[in-house]
Amino acid sequence: MINHSTLYIDGKWVVPAEPGDITVINPATEQILGHAVSGGVSDVDRAVAAAREAFPGWSQRSAADRREAVLGFAAALERRSGEMAELLTAEVGAPLSLARDRQVPGPIAQLRLAADNAEAVLAAVPVGNSQVFRAAAGVVAAIAPWNFPLLLGMNKIAPALAVGCTVVFKPSEVTPLHAFLLAEIAHDSGLPAGVLNLVTGSGAVVGEALAGHPGVDVVSLTGSTAAGRKVAAAAAGTIKKVHLELGGKSASVVLAGADLRMAVEATVEQCFINSGQTCLAWSRLLVPAGVASEAAQIAATRADRYVLGDPLDPATELGPVVSVTQRARVRAAIDRAIRDGARLVTGGTAAPDGLNTGYYVRPTVFADVDPRSDLGQEEVFGPVLAVIGYNTEADAVAIANGTPYGLHGAVFAANNDQATRVARQLRTGAVDINGGTLNLEAPFGGYKQSGVGRELGRWGLEEYTEITSLQY
Ligand code: NAD
Repeated sequence: MINHSTLYIDGKWVVPAEPGDITVINPATEQILGHAVSGGVSDVDRAVAAAREAFPGWSQRSAADRREAVLGFAAALERRSGEMAELLTAEVGAPLSLARDRQVPGPIAQLRLAADNAEAVLAAVPVGNSQVFRAAAGVVAAIAPWNFPLLLGMNKIAPALAVGCTVVFKPSEVTPLHAFLLAEIAHDSGLPAGVLNLVTGSGAVVGEALAGHPGVDVVSLTGSTAAGRKVAAAAAGTIKKVHLELGGKSASVVLAGADLRMAVEATVEQCFINSGQTCLAWSRLLVPAGVASEAAQIAATRADRYVLGDPLDPATELGPVVSVTQRARVRAAIDRAIRDGARLVTGGTAAPDGLNTGYYVRPTVFADVDPRSDLGQEEVFGPVLAVIGYNTEADAVAIANGTPYGLHGAVFAANNDQATRVARQLRTGAVDINGGTLNLEAPFGGYKQSGVGRELGRWGLEEYTEITSLQY
């Protein structure tokens, strides 16, 4: 059994001043996977002080030196990627293939891209008689969720370190174990003391203490919109930079003339990645009303083909959801959708056949969903797709834009020009056109209550900088 009793602060493993216990359950077996210590407010103080102390040295290093250090961190993570993938699978319940192919290679690539691109972001730009340059913003509090914990933590850690910030990392209390391994890897790679610190604990205690801390210059949260509101409020007292990557209810819009089967199957496959626990899930499928029943049937047939089971089994395509709490939330959303009059085409709240242990949820498809209902408006964060029929293209755009969120989306059409014309009317941070693929160098983030700011690419690096203008 894994047991971590110390936090990583100032390059050392230290016993917290206010230790608590986090028990981590393997969602596939319902057995205890391990224990992680949690810290308190005074541990946050200690970590922030260490990060402040390390900031001048780290930020003033030459870009080439810092690049080498960040690339060394990437290489050290790569050497232990097998171990990291297995730990993420045990902690999150994601199939090992997903952990191996995405959850670990993504963060390694992030470190390398950030290391390579930081110098250009920090370079001075002449503007008339001024030289305008970006400089490291200071101490960053990086607060991560549980769904893709390493990947989403690294979306913050990599750019922050690369531009010269120092970091206090707070992983989710649901999935803290991988963060101890990450700190060990950072230490072994030779990152200087205080540059990356780890304080585990709850959002209400450790998260809020970081967000409100006068020694933190940037607070960057990936999590629910509810947590985003609290972080923004806690940060307001000290007027720090606030970066928020929050929830979504993204729409996949299928236009008349698109290849319906291809578009529907692609939507199901994107929506159900990681058992639907993905912020950018296309959880609403918008199709012309005349083909809505056919689309729902195609979606259900595709959903029924999923192999659910042990995340360590190479044949498994969908693992459990992360916790008993999350399963209860997803089941409640399914029950509510039925009460609200949506038509259950496949799935539902019963445990999948043969899977009575583990927090599994049947891949679920609803048709005839009212876009104003809870299922049409609220993030479920589970394997649940809502099929919605529309009458005109203008209706499709209005429905797609008619939620408090705007994180991601898709448009499928007969050609890219038609799809692009509709995509440009969507109030959302990213749109995949006719099956376009994820680009780690393009910006990612949300409109409206999906967040503030952008991660990835040069935009993600800029979030961790301030701007200075020198006049000559
Ligand atoms: P959550 O909001 O419960 O927790 C996220 C993190 O915020 C955790 O580390 C938690 O401890 C911390 N936190 C909670 N309350 C806090 C507070 N008051 N102050 C400071 N920190 C606090 O979210 P979750 O359940 O871990 O993750 C799922 C949510 O995250 C979903 O809503 C999903 O859409 C969102 N998400 C967004 C993105 C994105 O990039 N936009 C990516 C993944 C997940």
